Amino acid sequence: MKITKLDERVHVLDSNTDALSILQDIVESGVQEEAFYICDVGDIVRKHKIFKAAMPRVEPHYAVKCNDSHTVLETLAALGTGFDCASKTEINKVLTLGVNPSRIIFANPAKPMSHIRHAAATGVRLMTFDNESELFKIKDIFPDAKMVIRIRCDATIAQCQLGMKFGCDPVSEAPQLLDLARSLGIDVVGVSFHVGSGCGEPAVFRRAIAASRDIFDYAETLGFNFNLLDLGGGYPGGTGSSIDKIADIINRALEDYFPDPAVNVIAEPGRFYVASAYTLACNIHSIRTVNVSDPVTGNPNKHIMYYINDGVYGSFNCLLYDHQHVVPIPLKINAGAKYYRSSVWGPTCDGLDQVVENHMLPEMKIGDWLIFEDMGAYTLPVASPFNGFPIPKVHVVADQNIWMLLKDMFPLSENHFVIGNTKANLRVGLDTPDGWTMPSLPITIPICNG
Ligand code: PLP
Repeated sequence: MKITKLDERVHVLDSNTDALSILQDIVESGVQEEAFYICDVGDIVRKHKIFKAAMPRVEPHYAVKCNDSHTVLETLAALGTGFDCASKTEINKVLTLGVNPSRIIFANPAKPMSHIRHAAATGVRLMTFDNESELFKIKDIFPDAKMVIRIRCDATIAQCQLGMKFGCDPVSEAPQLLDLARSLGIDVVGVSFHVGSGCGEPAVFRRAIAASRDIFDYAETLGFNFNLLDLGGGYPGGTGSSIDKIADIINRALEDYFPDPAVNVIAEPGRFYVASAYTLACNIHSIRTVNVSDPVTGNPNKHIMYYINDGVYGSFNCLLYDHQHVVPIPLKINAGAKYYRSSVWGPTCDGLDQVVENHMLPEMKIGDWLIFEDMGAYTLPVASPFNGFPIPKVHVVADQNIWMLLKDMFPLSENHFVIGNTKANLRVGLDTPDGWTMPSLPITIPICNG
């Protein structure tokens, strides 16, 4: 396939190509200089399959904040996930896809009034709270809301802790909040928690589920009829990571503490769905060679500084905000290249704009490319064009196997159909006779004319 035009997204659907080969094609086209992403939609579909297989009882509500790109949202809407929205704008993004408001949880325990009014106006009734003031606001402006109390239960290890900001104490605060909700006549329907993003302590889910059980029991004494348990986010999503251990702990804890199938169990995975789907390619535009003294011998060592066209004000904001660690992979290694201690820097004039501090890399030249995998979570929605360096464009890749995967996941073959499999568009959709667990929207996967 020859790529000649890059003024629009390159969409590929070809069984002989994968995300990396498309990336290579774009680079070799010679017309690409700016940093760019490849998004593999198939990876997102595969993640959904993994999630559903690992935790069949749990209905994922994708956390939009993690990556709010249209492609991601459209794919997940088609797969039938729910959505966790944090704001009015996120709610709108999901609703404009045709998603039913009942598939949305407004999972921000501290919401601006206008956003609550917007949720009321658009029929998004399910929302979280962890404090008294939120209950008073709800009583005033959205008394029909279905509230979910968010409790705090922190993992001992997490990439990003959230408990210092959100979640009431399940013992010393939750009962009083439920008492208040009762006296205000507000309907509380369940419990939510978030153990921390990038959870490194699977056992925390059992603690959190056990604590939720106690709150369900207390709520019953007040006359509430709880039917929702929200397991929040925290599931890792990078290449090679696994949710098996977390899933095992969750499944057992659900059996032990929530055996009643009438309790709906949802989760709010973010990074799990999108981290590995995105690969970022950056171009080396400048190089500086310096001597750095060896910390042991004191001898001067050659150190190469590579300047690339995306940095911490762009995609690599994830180093600062999401505590990510990124690994630069040279797209091409020239035969016989010598390796040197190297650092990688973003394009802006800020000294803070360092992407990789110290890494052995083969000697590269201006115009060479560095690849960064697992860049789909908490990167693009936060990126800015500071110093005039543009936010990288995304090229979407979709392989034919997606369709096979969809068929696999929803084995009622008579409910499947393909609309218009043309060279320009492959539209796949699934009939949705009943229930939102079936894909409910057609998914449009444009392809290039390669
Ligand atoms: N739900 C809420 C309320 C969050 O704040 C977040 C992330 O901050 C998520 C879900 C997604 O978490 P993760 O990406 O770790 O799955």
